[in-house]
Amino acid sequence: MNRGQGMVSIIGAGPGDPELITVKALRRIEQADVILYDRLVSEELLQYARPEVRRIYCGKSPGLHHMSQQAIHRTLLQHASAGLHVVRLKGGDPLVFGRGGEEALFLQEHGMDYEIVPGVTAAIGAAAGADIPLTHRGIATSFACVTASRAQSEAGSESAGDGVRWDLLAGSVDTLAIYMGVSQLQQICTELVRYGRPADTPVAIIENGTTAVQRVLTGTLEDIHAIAQAARLGNPALIIVGEVVRVREQLMQIRQQAQTMIG
Ligand code: SAH
Repeated sequence: MNRGQGMVSIIGAGPGDPELITVKALRRIEQADVILYDRLVSEELLQYARPEVRRIYCGKSPGLHHMSQQAIHRTLLQHASAGLHVVRLKGGDPLVFGRGGEEALFLQEHGMDYEIVPGVTAAIGAAAGADIPLTHRGIATSFACVTASRAQSEAGSESAGDGVRWDLLAGSVDTLAIYMGVSQLQQICTELVRYGRPADTPVAIIENGTTAVQRVLTGTLEDIHAIAQAARLGNPALIIVGEVVRVREQLMQIRQQAQTMIG
């Protein structure tokens, strides 16, 4: 990185637990002149920035956008053009449903230097937080990260399953890790059953994965919607569909047996 010449570091903050950021991303936060950060970024990470750093909150709750994507692009470019080191800090990984690619394209088109620093995406973080292996020998040899939302559009519309080929995904991938799916849980489950997933396929939903307030709900494609409603499930939450969810249950059983023996 050339000091004095502006640039943008598009970095992943990891899935929630601030300790899950990479060393490289943390260094970029420490060096930054300006930080543009999203809603799902742990505020704790901003403590590592220099006291004089300029912090810009970019918001983005489901259905409610604080700063438009165009405004974010312009702000990144404006500060970097003034010779500053700008950090664009995003939850999880910047290139997984994070619009990091769009920001890189915009900067490249305007001749601005940028780099991308990956992060632990929610599927990886939340699965680990819930003791669910996304692949497991004899049970699952593939997983897919899917967004249930078309909210990649500026209006933030979350219309059901738009653009997602549930017909193909249902039968071709063992484990599905579904992002932004809470508001459409029932439609997703119905679609998967319609396209051939057994109704008793296990499902886990991890709310606030890897944080101190993580909650894990489990059920099946048939009953998870009622379970989530009863538990007043909120955001952010990741849905995991597949037989691998049973491994969590096995682990829990073994843990309970061990505790009873000790007790
Ligand atoms: N770039 C991010 C994803 C942004 S989309 C990444 O790589 O993780 C936002 C969605 O990610 C949320 O709606 C939710 O489905 C998921 N998500 C983000 N953080 C999460 C967390 N701590 N626990 C569970 N799901 C999370």
